[in-house]
Amino acid sequence: MVNSGFVRFVFMVFVLGTLAAQDQQGAEKSHPVVLKYLGTAGWEITDGTTSILIDPYLSRINGPAPPGGGSGHSLAGDTRRVYGWGDVASPDVAAIDSHIQRADCILVTHTHYDHILDVPHIALKTGAIVIGTESTENVMRAYGVPEGRLITVRGGEDYEFGSFSLKVIPSIHSPLDHKHYFSSAIAPAGMKAPLTLEQIHPEGGTLAYLIRFHGHQILAFGGMNYIEREIVGLEPDVALIGAGASRKEIYDYSGRLMRDLRYPALVLPTHWDNFLAPYGASQQPALDALQSFLQEIAAASPKTKVIVPKYFEAIPLETPAK
Ligand SMILES: [Zn+2]
Ligand SMILES: [Zn+2]
Repeated sequence: MVNSGFVRFVFMVFVLGTLAAQDQQGAEKSHPVVLKYLGTAGWEITDGTTSILIDPYLSRINGPAPPGGGSGHSLAGDTRRVYGWGDVASPDVAAIDSHIQRADCILVTHTHYDHILDVPHIALKTGAIVIGTESTENVMRAYGVPEGRLITVRGGEDYEFGSFSLKVIPSIHSPLDHKHYFSSAIAPAGMKAPLTLEQIHPEGGTLAYLIRFHGHQILAFGGMNYIEREIVGLEPDVALIGAGASRKEIYDYSGRLMRDLRYPALVLPTHWDNFLAPYGASQQPALDALQSFLQEIAAASPKTKVIVPKYFEAIPLETPAK
């Protein structure tokens, strides 16, 4: 005869186990991490409470093209104002306001205008902290972003923020202009807004970021390059990988990345669109060019899922494998 105490014990274990499972599901459901592509190298990562932005650039001005073309070129028939290096470009406040309601933290990979033009406005509007190089923070200072909200990094830092943690990874810029792009310039201290495009275009060094958030590890690049020894051993489940044409200047770009990162479950191509075209314009040529990147990832890491992001479309992350 079975001991009734034992039956009660088994029942309790079953009930507690079920409750624990429901609780875990509830926790996952209440904190789904969602990514949104803002265009260029821009992303929003949020759990509905904490919002992290990476290189948010929504103004998409008809500005100067990168050296050698890169991933930006003016569209024929574009009737918008053409900006030169000596011009001051104001952020497109309407575009920003319709898509960015809040931000707690803005990560900037480097101080080029297609990464930083909108950051002072977004930082002032949201009260977010801005994490970036000394060059990036000097641009923030010019626009009066309070010193207390600026966290200057050089790569190598690994910081705890409570709801997420952040490893700052030394990196290098896309090999634009068939490897002839090089800049050691940094935006100096003491500048006063408004700044010309030239003043918000000294690279200031390039960083990548590993964001640990609700059990996910999201590795974000701002362009088409990396320092291999700095990424070996990272095991992100999500990687935002620069997919513009200049990656083809690099030896086995996608293959080395996939091996070094231990074959991430999800890859999201970034900085692949033509950022000199407005949001409504066709990105078909860029999408066509992106196919070779998709093939590279499929060849190097057949189990990796690749999602070609649409502007502002929510990409919810699946529960990470524990
Ligand atoms: Zn750049
Ligand atoms: Zn760029």
